[in-house]
Order: sequence, then structure tokens, then C-alpha cells
Amino acid sequence: MPTDCIFCRIIVGEVPATIVYRDERVVAIRDIAPKAPTHILVMPIQHLTSLAEAQTADEGLMGALLLAAAHIARQEGVAERGYRVTLNTRAEGGQTVGHLHAHLLGGRQLSGEMG
Ligand code: 5GP
Ligand code: ZN
Repeated sequence: MPTDCIFCRIIVGEVPATIVYRDERVVAIRDIAPKAPTHILVMPIQHLTSLAEAQTADEGLMGALLLAAAHIARQEGVAERGYRVTLNTRAEGGQTVGHLHAHLLGGRQLSGEMG
């Protein structure tokens, strides 16, 4: 575990966060600066820097991550109205934390803008 990774430190409990979901591969927390009524970060427990580092061997993990996002959307009560799952990747993708995470956004009408 990279000790300088804020999300690894949250996963092991060294840094506080509101955890809304956890299984053997995935953890999800509330974003500290929410951009929508529901703003959850869904991440692998295993440190992966970004989607750009994902390998064929991570296929199952990435599937688990997306299915966890769908599960949490139901848990949060936003599944029926709709939501967005975004994987910001590297600098020009807007990624600021170097531990792969999907943003789950919902609870309001999201703009059609994609960037
Ligand atoms: P990115 O910009 O990398 O796609 O998303 C990083 C997200 O992590 C941002 O939305 C930011 O608000 C959130 N974030 C950064 N540091 C922390 C933290 O310490 N705790 C929580 N819960 N969220 C964080
Ligand atoms: Zn990490």
C-alpha cells in the first residue's frame, strides 16, 4: 500500500471517511466535496493508479467496481431516476487522486456536458 495514497489510507482506516459500501474487492465512500446530493467514490481496495494502469487480469475487479456502483445507486435511492458513473483518468481526464475511483453522481438533473 503506498503510504502517500489518501484513498489507501482511508481504506485501512488511517484517515476518516464515510464508508457506504465494502466488499472483498471494493470500497465506496462519500466524496468530501459533493457535486450532487449523491456523490460517492467507488474504488478497488487494491491500489491501482488509474484506469490507464488496469490490466487484463483486472477485468473481474473492474466488473465488480461497476456492479458495486449500480448496487450503491439502488442503495442511495437514485437508480430509478438515473445517475452517472465517471472514471476521470490521468491529468487531462481531470483525475486529482492517483488511486482509481469511479464517481457515482445522482440526486439531481446532471448536465449534458461531457467536459
Ligand atoms: P478526481 O478529481 O481524482 O476524479 O476525484 C477525486 C475526488 O476525491 C474529488 O471529488 C475530491 O473531492 C475527493 N476527495 C479528495 N480527498 C478526499 C478525502 O480525503 N476524502 C474524501 N471522502 N474525498 C476526497
Ligand atoms: Zn491507493
